[in-house]
Amino acid sequence: MKYILALDQGTTSTRAIVFDKKGNIVSSAQREFAQIYPKPGWVEHSPRDILGSTVAVIGEALVRANVSAQEIAAVGITNQRETTLVWDRLTGEPVYNAIVWQCRRTAEYADKLKREGFEEKIYNRTGLVPDAYFSATKIKWILDNVEGARARAERGELLFGTVDTYLLWQLSKGRIFATDYTNASRTMLYNIHTLKWDDELLRLFDIPKSMLPSVHPSGYNFGVIDELYFGAPIPVCGVVGDQQAALFGQLCIDEGDVKNTYGTGCFLLMNTGGKAVKSNNGLVTTLAASLDERPCYVLEGSVFVGGAVIQWLRDELKIIESADESEVYASSVPDSGGVYIVPAFTGLGAPYWNASARGVITGITRGATRAHIVRAALEGIAYEVCDLVGAMQRDSGICISRLAVDGGASKNNFLMQFQADVLGANVSRPKIVETTALGAAYLAGLTRGYWKDIGQIKNNAVCDREFKPTMSEIRRLSLLEGWKKAVNQTIL
Ligand code: ADP
Repeated sequence: MKYILALDQGTTSTRAIVFDKKGNIVSSAQREFAQIYPKPGWVEHSPRDILGSTVAVIGEALVRANVSAQEIAAVGITNQRETTLVWDRLTGEPVYNAIVWQCRRTAEYADKLKREGFEEKIYNRTGLVPDAYFSATKIKWILDNVEGARARAERGELLFGTVDTYLLWQLSKGRIFATDYTNASRTMLYNIHTLKWDDELLRLFDIPKSMLPSVHPSGYNFGVIDELYFGAPIPVCGVVGDQQAALFGQLCIDEGDVKNTYGTGCFLLMNTGGKAVKSNNGLVTTLAASLDERPCYVLEGSVFVGGAVIQWLRDELKIIESADESEVYASSVPDSGGVYIVPAFTGLGAPYWNASARGVITGITRGATRAHIVRAALEGIAYEVCDLVGAMQRDSGICISRLAVDGGASKNNFLMQFQADVLGANVSRPKIVETTALGAAYLAGLTRGYWKDIGQIKNNAVCDREFKPTMSEIRRLSLLEGWKKAVNQTIL
């Protein structure tokens, strides 16, 4: 048993990576699939695409590595969180497309829950703020809108799952009906303190308990992928939502450890250990990956527009040709010349939570150049993360001295150095930035005994570069002051 396989079922593509014992990538395969937009603000995936791309990339990764299923010690599955599927218990036939986390079709209902005063009850049990993001309102939508679905669900004929559960069920030919703490904690139905599905919330959303999977730690012997798929059974020993997978992949396993992923948006997660920390600054409390039944908690904050502002410079303003070019322009000037960009394209998230805010570019003088604008866009990402870190420090009482980073935009050295400077903290980028897949692989490998313990894995973790703050405190504070003024201008 020479390898571990990680399956990363993401929002726009599905990937499989074969890792060896040193955590090196032996092979990988990736497949994009269709995004379905039936109406403005609605987003769906075909369940067949989710399953089909999964089977395809696992097969392809095995072939590329020239290994057989028998040589895979275990599989770890990581997935886009919150995305909701409902299917028939007997036939496996989905009753509707997967409703994707981004889908806003239930936004009005989520607002109604807030108006009716359910916010505190939901937060106290699930650690989440009522929002269309989370699975609960999506399940309710399917039961209320797909003909016959509610009656079938009440007769016990339908099952609900996030993507991990659907894949486990399909890949095991219906033998595994399960999820893990991290995925359950994003449904808005799971009590993160008692580690049980919450009966009162199930009543509130009118969801039969018989639809729900059993919940296990992320590192767990879930069962096997049926041998019909790859010629031999492969044990699934890890299941974990993508952000918590990245946290584990970064080895942020101790209280106070923090990682930020710079993708389309940014996701900042802090491990708060055995304590569920309450947020007063608009962050959510959720469950981390764990290898046993002791829960480990996370504070999580996200910004909606991170690396996407660089796509905007490229595709809409057309002032850069590639995302990589942004680093060249930003580094060609000593500062942004007083220009600030706040990319509040879709409103502001934590810690501001203003849905009607819109983006601004401020401080433009006659001398402002393309380089200043590009630099201001990258700096804007760093300031947004800085605001989240500030909220997290206030909530947790923990001072963040090191930020582990990953995601597409983390390869931008200018952005990482500027991040370290405005945070006044070290920014640490690992050599393998595939931390999401790595996290799933570690969980599966540790559970299977492929790796003896975390200590053995720590030897594998190679830092690519550590960015240390070099900016003077006076300059840092004055830049942050300017950012605050720019943010105030986004609120119309
Ligand atoms: P996701 O998983 O959200 O699709 P990725 O982790 O693949 O995102 O990162 C893609 C994002 O990173 C894009 O928004 C892109 O604009 C940004 N990005 C990629 N390379 C760079 C770069 N060198 N500098 C700044 N941003 C970048």
